[in-house]
Amino acid sequence: MKKTSYYVCPACGNLVLAAGSAQISCCGRRLEALTPQKPDEAHRLRVEQVEDEWFLTSEHPMTKEHYLSFVALAAGDRLTLVKTYPEWELQVRLPRRVHGMLLWYCTGHGLFRQPL
Ligand SMILES: [Zn+2]
Ligand SMILES: [Zn+2]
Repeated sequence: MKKTSYYVCPACGNLVLAAGSAQISCCGRRLEALTPQKPDEAHRLRVEQVEDEWFLTSEHPMTKEHYLSFVALAAGDRLTLVKTYPEWELQVRLPRRVHGMLLWYCTGHGLFRQPL
């Protein structure tokens, strides 16, 4: 699942995942695969270990105009995707025995990643 491409429609916010390269369109337009970036200070996720889970939080705004809309953990042949919503504090729990690439998406600034 590390080769998964992520697409987000700028018109409706629809999230589409594809293994490998694909032609994806939504709302009548072609979508480009997002390129994950290294997070800057504003987009960092705080990762804590709580018992047998990773507990992820962020200081990032969660307003309707600007928020983190999902967090995904790609590990081996598995992808765990957690939708996150505006006007809620970002809090995501993932099983701690899983290691892989953590990805998250900001509606204003795109896709970010960090190994977990
Ligand atoms: Zn759309
Ligand atoms: Zn942002």
